[in-house]
Amino acid sequence: MKILTIIGARPQFIKATVISRAIQQLSEQSGMNINEKILHTGQHYDHNMSQIFFNDLSIPQPSWLLDCCSMSPQDMSIKILQSIGKEAFDCVILYGDTNSTLAGALAAEKLQIPIAHIEAGLRSYNLLMPEEHNRVETDKRTKWLFCPTQTAVDNLKKEGITDNVFLVGDVMYDTALLFGNTAEQRSNICEQLNIEKKKFFLATIHRAENTNEQNLSEILTAFSHIASQETPIVWPLHPRTKAVINQYASLKHILQQNAFIRIIEPANYLDMIMLEKNAQLILTDSGGVQKEAYFHKTPCITLRNETEWTETIDAGWNILTGANKDKIINAVQHKFECQPIKEYGDGDSAQKIIQVLYDDLNK
Ligand code: UDP
Repeated sequence: MKILTIIGARPQFIKATVISRAIQQLSEQSGMNINEKILHTGQHYDHNMSQIFFNDLSIPQPSWLLDCCSMSPQDMSIKILQSIGKEAFDCVILYGDTNSTLAGALAAEKLQIPIAHIEAGLRSYNLLMPEEHNRVETDKRTKWLFCPTQTAVDNLKKEGITDNVFLVGDVMYDTALLFGNTAEQRSNICEQLNIEKKKFFLATIHRAENTNEQNLSEILTAFSHIASQETPIVWPLHPRTKAVINQYASLKHILQQNAFIRIIEPANYLDMIMLEKNAQLILTDSGGVQKEAYFHKTPCITLRNETEWTETIDAGWNILTGANKDKIINAVQHKFECQPIKEYGDGDSAQKIIQVLYDDLNK
């Protein structure tokens, strides 16, 4: 059985690690040679956004490393087709909603390789988000739709997609469980930054809708108001956000007003876990970080107007503020009353996914 995995962006490396492990495990257990080859599109290519995850999470090295940074999914798909040539695969595994996801779907469709989509069915219902378009178009072309939540299953049903839909839980939860203890043992990021547990906020911002002068100005103004000596904001800065801040003197000026906004390089995954666990509160526009906030029992403010992870809102762990400075400042004072979330599975989503593929392909 030959599997092609197509990845290209940070969250996909993190999700792929548990799937690669599940493939190896099943291969050993079944005695059948299940062969995975990885294609990395190069959408994220900086050391801190890419190679560091392959090293720390022991992801198998890619067989193909392309240079598709900043390409449209259509152009990327042509590069993918040129790279894999006529090599035959039984299925293609795709993750999430990036340009690499849709590029993989377009290439697989052309080659008539059936697609397995992990994180199928997520919807924000905001078609202005490039990710929403990528998700919808990928799901249309997918054979096995692996949904992390019942909401995702229901979303697909609304689009008339009911066949081959599998509710398997969230692979990011598997990853968080797998690396939680390792992070405790290996990361000393809090000591390095000289921050005390539950006495700092953690921020991440990178969505297209927030990386423009107007939204970043609102966000930075709010951060400048919130960060203090007692509770600094630790902010691992995404390269896209860094480029926009560097472009506008007005944004740099707001940042310079408060020395307790502590900008750091993008964190490695183990450091990120420790920052998430130990933060008093997380401010983010990331999909993955919203959920990880819950996995590590830290309340979250999401600087967007909608979320695909609605269960985090329903259970009281997460509130939405958009990029509105007053709403962000008020939300920091919010008294979070949180309930456990039953969704996301038991930490064995990756095994479930690989078992479904194995059973179906060996019928
Ligand atoms: N992450 C990380 N270092 C950082 C910021 C995020 O390791 O400095 C991890 C985070 O723990 C999560 C994933 O990256 O597992 C989320 O990716 P990102 O926010 O880039 O994308 P999204 O989830 O919004 O698609």
